[in-house]
Amino acid sequence: HNLCAVCLNLHLVCGITWLNSLSFSPLSTVNEYVFMVQARGIQIRENVKNIGAQVLEQVVRGAYSINGTDYSYDFNVSESDDPPTTYLPEGFTYLSSQICPERLPSMKGRLEVNMSEISLEEVERSLLEGEPRMAQGGYWKPKDCLPRWKVAILVPFRNRHEHLPILLRHLVPVLQKQRLQFAFYFIEQGGTEPFNRAMLFNVGYKEAMKDLDWDCLIFHDVDHLMENDRNYYGCTDMPRHFAVKLDKYSYMLPYNEFFGGVSGLTVKQFKKINGFPNAFWGWGGEDDDLWNRVRYANYTVSRPHGEQGRYMSIPHHHRGEVQFLGRYSLLRHSKERQKVDGLNNLNYSPIVSRRPLYTNITVSLSRKLAPVADY
Ligand code: UDP
Ligand code: MN
Repeated sequence: HNLCAVCLNLHLVCGITWLNSLSFSPLSTVNEYVFMVQARGIQIRENVKNIGAQVLEQVVRGAYSINGTDYSYDFNVSESDDPPTTYLPEGFTYLSSQICPERLPSMKGRLEVNMSEISLEEVERSLLEGEPRMAQGGYWKPKDCLPRWKVAILVPFRNRHEHLPILLRHLVPVLQKQRLQFAFYFIEQGGTEPFNRAMLFNVGYKEAMKDLDWDCLIFHDVDHLMENDRNYYGCTDMPRHFAVKLDKYSYMLPYNEFFGGVSGLTVKQFKKINGFPNAFWGWGGEDDDLWNRVRYANYTVSRPHGEQGRYMSIPHHHRGEVQFLGRYSLLRHSKERQKVDGLNNLNYSPIVSRRPLYTNITVSLSRKLAPVADY
C-alpha cells in the first residue's frame, strides 16, 4: 500500500465534496480536480468518474438502508458484472473426467461475512465434519471433476492468531464450491525485525512448492474476507488483483496501481518476475513494487468485475507496525532491483508444522537473509 488512512479519508472527503459541488459547478471544475496524494503525488483524476459514481452509490445506499453496511446486489448491478446467464444453470451435471467449470451454479454471488471470533479447534471440527476428505495440512481437491487450478493460498501473519480461524471458516467452503484444488499456508514471522509481508510470501511460495506442483498462487492478507463467491480464486493468463473494493476504502479502488490485499499469479508468472522484493521492512510499498515487477515483465493486471471484488476486513489495530519510509526510494528502482532481489537472493530456515486445515511455517527474518548485489 502507498496511501495512508488519513490521505484516503481526505480523498474520500474530496470525492464527496466534489460530488456535492457537481450540481452547481460547471463540468470544467471536475476536470481540473486533481487529487494530490502523498509525496509520490499520485494523480487519480482518471478515476474521478468512477469514484464519483461509487461515492454516489455509497451516499444513496446509506440513505436507503437503515444499517449502513446493508446492501443488495440488486440495488446497483454494475454494467461490468457478469450477466447471471453466464453461470451454469441449477442442476447442471458434469463428468468427473472433465475439467471443473469456472462458473458453477453453486456460486451465487453475495456471501454472508462472519467476523465473530472462534477457536481454531472449533473451525477444524466443523469444517472436517462437513467435508471429511480434507487431509492433514488442509489439502483438498474436488472429486466430481478435475480441478482447473492447483492453488496455494499463502497468508503472512504475526500477532494475528485470532484471524486465522475466521479466514478459514469463511474461505474453505468457498474454495470447495469453486471446485479448486487448494491448501493453505500460513507464514508467521518470528524475530524482532519489522514485519516483512513480501519476504514471507517468498518463503511461503518456496515451502509450498516443496509439497506439490501448485500452478496458481494467491497472496492473501489474513484479515480480508471476500463478499462474493463469484470472485474465482483460480489464476488467469495475466496476474490478478482480487481485492478491488474494500470496505475500509469505501469500496473504491484507492488508486489504479493498487495491488494489495489479495492478489494472484501463476507459478510461471511469479518466477518470471523473481517473486516479491525482500527489502520492504514495515508497512507499505511491497505491493506497489510487485505491481511494478508485473508491469516490467509486460503483464497487465486483471481484476474481477463489478461487485465481485468486494471485501470486508477484520478490524485490527496497527500493533506497533511502523510505516516503511524507505519505500519511495526503493520503488524508484523497482526495475533494477527486480533482478537482484526476490526469489533468487533469499535464504531462510523455517519451522514447518501441519495442522488439520493448514501448514504453518514459522520463520525468523533478518536483512542478512537476502543480501542485495549492487544495481
Ligand atoms: N500482518 C500481520 N501482522 C502485522 C502486520 C501485518 O499479520 O503486524 C499481515 C496480515 O496478513 C495483514 C497484512 O499483513 O492482513 C497487511 O497488514 P495490515 O493489515 O496491517 O495492513 P492494512 O490493513 O493497513 O492494509
Ligand atoms: Mn489489514
